[in-house]
Amino acid sequence: MNVNDSEKMHHILTKKGLERTNNEDTADIIILNSCAVREKAQEKIFSFVGRIPKEKKIIISGCVAQSEGEKMIKRSPKIDYIIGTHQYFSIDTIIDEIVSNENFRKDTNRKKRVKKSFSDKWTELVPKGSERDSDLSGFISIMEGCNNFCSYCIVPFTRGREKHRPFQDILKEAKYLYEKGYKEIILLGQNVNSWKDNKNNMKFHDLLELLAKNIPVKWIRFITSYPGYYDSELIDIMQKHRNIARHIHFPAQSGSTRILKKMNRTYTRQQYLKIINEFKKKLPEITFSSDFIIGFPSESKKDFELTLSLLEKIEYDSLFSFIYSKREHTKAKVLKDNVTLSTKKERLYKLQNLQKTIQIKHNKALIGKTIEVLVTGKNKKNQEEFVARTESYKTVNFTSNKKDIIGQFVNVKIEKIGPYSLRGIAETNIN
Ligand code: SAH
Ligand code: SF4
Repeated sequence: MNVNDSEKMHHILTKKGLERTNNEDTADIIILNSCAVREKAQEKIFSFVGRIPKEKKIIISGCVAQSEGEKMIKRSPKIDYIIGTHQYFSIDTIIDEIVSNENFRKDTNRKKRVKKSFSDKWTELVPKGSERDSDLSGFISIMEGCNNFCSYCIVPFTRGREKHRPFQDILKEAKYLYEKGYKEIILLGQNVNSWKDNKNNMKFHDLLELLAKNIPVKWIRFITSYPGYYDSELIDIMQKHRNIARHIHFPAQSGSTRILKKMNRTYTRQQYLKIINEFKKKLPEITFSSDFIIGFPSESKKDFELTLSLLEKIEYDSLFSFIYSKREHTKAKVLKDNVTLSTKKERLYKLQNLQKTIQIKHNKALIGKTIEVLVTGKNKKNQEEFVARTESYKTVNFTSNKKDIIGQFVNVKIEKIGPYSLRGIAETNIN
C-alpha cells in the first residue's frame, strides 16, 4: 500500500511537471513515505534527515507522519512538511507552498505544516490513468483502513476505519490497466476480503468474479486477506475463474490459539487450518504465504512450537516473519513484554530455518518441470539472464535465445534451485 501511495504521489507530481530521481543527491525535494508497522522507523527517519544537506526540502508522508507528525516537525527544523495518509493528494499544493515562498523556512509557525486530517469515506484521490512503477503489474486500491484492531497493530490508528471503493471505479481502473497491456492486477487493501459495496449488494467475491469475467489479464491477485472470515464463495469463484492467481497471502501471525486470542485475531488455529484445507481441497494447485509475529508478550515455548507445527502442516511457499514490536496506541502496549530479546531472536532464526527447509523441498520438486513465468526484466547481477515471477510469486532467473521477451509469459524449464529462487532455461531454447 505504501508503494502504491508513492506511485500516486509520483503521478500527481509528474502531471505537475516535476521529474522523479532515485538519487537523493540530485533531488531538490525529498519525500519520505514512511511505514509505522514496526518501531524504529521514526528514528531511522531522523538519522536519514540528519544526513540530508539543509538546502534540500524534506517532506515526511505516510503512517509515521500520521502517527507522530507533530512531534517530528517540532524536533527537526530540517523537515518542511508533514502529510498524513489521507492527505497525499495535496502533495502538489504543498510543494507549491514550499518552493514559491522564499521565506518559507523563516516562518516560525511550524504547527501549520502538519496536514493530517482523516476522511471517513472513500475518496477518489487520483484521477484515472495513474502512473505506476511497473508497466506489467498494476496495483488497484479497493479499500483502505481497518476495523479489526489486532492488539499489536498500529494500522487502524494510522489509516483509520475501513473505507470501501465503489465497484464501478475499480472496474474502470482495471479495464484501463488491461487496455494499457498490464499482465497482472493486484487488488490492494489492509483487509481486502471485507470489501463490500452495500449500494449494489456486493461482497468481495462478487467483485472478484466481476473482474475475472471482464478483465482477461492472466493473473488477478489480491492482498491482504484476513483469514478470519470463512468465505466458501471466495473459493468457489476462484475455482470458476482460472485468471485469479492460485496464490493467497493469508497471514496467520501465530499457530497458537491462546496467542491469537491475545492478539485479538478472530480465528483459532483449528479454524485457520480448516479454511486452508478447504482451499487445498478445491484448488489443489494453490500455494500460500503468510506473516508471523514472533515473541508476542507471554509467548511460551509451547506456543512457539505450535507456530512451527503450523508451518509444517501448511508448508507455505514463502513467509514474512517479524519480532514483536511494541506500538503506540495499541492494546498490547501495556502487556508485559516478558519474552527476552535473545529468545525472540532464537525463535525467529528457528522459524526462518524451518521455512527455508520447506522452500528447498518445494523448489526441488520443480527441477525438470516446465513452468510459465512472467518476464519482468534482466537479472541485475547477470545481464545474460532474464528475471521472472511464477504464479506463486517465486523468482526465476533464466536464459533465452530470444531477446524481446520482457513483459511476456514464457515457459521455463527449471534446472537449479535455491531456497529463495529458481534457475532455468526458456523452453524455446531446448526445442
Ligand atoms: N492486514 C494484514 C496485515 C497488515 S500489517 C493482516 O491482518 O494480516 C503487515 C504485517 O506486519 C502483519 O501481518 C504483522 O505480521 C506485522 N506486524 C504488524 N504489527 C506488528 C507489530 N507490532 N510487531 C511486529 N510485527 C507487526
Ligand atoms: Fe493490523 Fe489486524 Fe487490521 Fe491487519 S487486520 S491491518 S494486522 S489491525
